[in-house]
Amino acid sequence: MLSVEEALEKILSYFHVLDAEDELILDALGRVLAEDIHSTIDIPPLDNAAMDGYAVQAQSTEGASPASPRILRVVGEVAAGYISRQEVGPQTAIRIMTGAPIPRGADAVVQFEDTDEEKRKTAGKTPSEIGILRQVKKGTNIRLAGEDISSGSLVLQAGTVLRPQEIGVLASLGREVVSVIRRPVVAILATGDELVDIKEPLTPGKIYNSNSYSLAAQVLRYGGVPQILGIARDSIEDLTGKIKQARDADLVITSAGVSVGEYDVVKTVLSQMGEITFWTVRMKPGKPLAFGILKLGKKRIPHLGLPGNPVSSMIAFEQFARPAILKMLGKKDYSKPVIVAKSESRIVNTDGRRIFARVRVTKRDGQYFARLVGPQGSGILTSMALANGLMIVPEEKQTVEEGEEVQVQMLDWNQDL
Ligand code: AMP
Ligand code: MG
Repeated sequence: MLSVEEALEKILSYFHVLDAEDELILDALGRVLAEDIHSTIDIPPLDNAAMDGYAVQAQSTEGASPASPRILRVVGEVAAGYISRQEVGPQTAIRIMTGAPIPRGADAVVQFEDTDEEKRKTAGKTPSEIGILRQVKKGTNIRLAGEDISSGSLVLQAGTVLRPQEIGVLASLGREVVSVIRRPVVAILATGDELVDIKEPLTPGKIYNSNSYSLAAQVLRYGGVPQILGIARDSIEDLTGKIKQARDADLVITSAGVSVGEYDVVKTVLSQMGEITFWTVRMKPGKPLAFGILKLGKKRIPHLGLPGNPVSSMIAFEQFARPAILKMLGKKDYSKPVIVAKSESRIVNTDGRRIFARVRVTKRDGQYFARLVGPQGSGILTSMALANGLMIVPEEKQTVEEGEEVQVQMLDWNQDL
């Protein structure tokens, strides 16, 4: 039997980072940058005012105080987005708004609060003279050209995961399109005679195909593009035909048909169409797993055969398919957040497998608690809906007692829980 780590390592060795494509910057959110971004401009492009106030020569404010204001003639006004045509001299000032380029001659900005403008303003008009109430140094309230980004500098490195702030930086450089790693296409094929599509009426003996949808949603959540191939019946012809539709995928996921004593069709077809190994992984749920390479035309596509039970397929996806998708996307960190919590349930490990127990984590008085969400049968999908984490019971641990500290792999991560 393979450990979870051994299975993951073998699986990941078959995946590599995909090629790059150009995307509009908003579509690049969460993706991995495939080019170094150098700036061709200074940001800000010109020295500009950090405050609303008056652009002056610092020397003309010498000795200024509320008791002894320095009176300067106001020769103009400049708003953000405009270049002042006037110049500032020793006895003059220009009224200036935040972001406006500093007029020629000026070397400081005195903010409104340090002037007597309020007193002089009549009917909202700019006064013709202004009293400066405070001495300022050269450079006061001036943002220098290039202080954020200087022309020619490396701003973002290839490999960076683009968050809203990086999207903003790209926009500030005037980039509309950026090169990012392509999203992997993940084909999903459910197998089983008992399955009915959600668009069809349920007939006796049948169940709805839920796995295709939970798996497709997981693919979406981790940044892949799901391609739902529908349901293959347990017949050689149907399964062969459906699998062939996956030829453009980067990963093929099948659900069901990999356990011991399974109706043999799935195993037969997948073995005929490529190399496949059936594994038992030392984990619960999710013990039966298949992995191989499908040969579709000239293409060789990794194939992950997940167990059919709805909980098992989701948990096995989290442990094995999610890291494969993240690797293809160019991401470096495949881990989910793991926290330490006090168990509020007693768990018995009967056969030396690593248990991923569905739990609800809560936080009280700064401490995390993890409680089993109810029956842990691997067919009980609503237990996944109630859970926000998977308690990890190590292989060698026979019982987890109430009150014991345990690790929980969080399915959802919210600091406040
Ligand atoms: P199997 O792996 O084929 O032995 O299936 C294990 C269990 O999972 C059986 O109860 C199946 O009916 C169920 N199952 C298999 N495929 C699906 C699916 N796509 N959606 C929901 N349940 C499934
Ligand atoms: Mg079956």
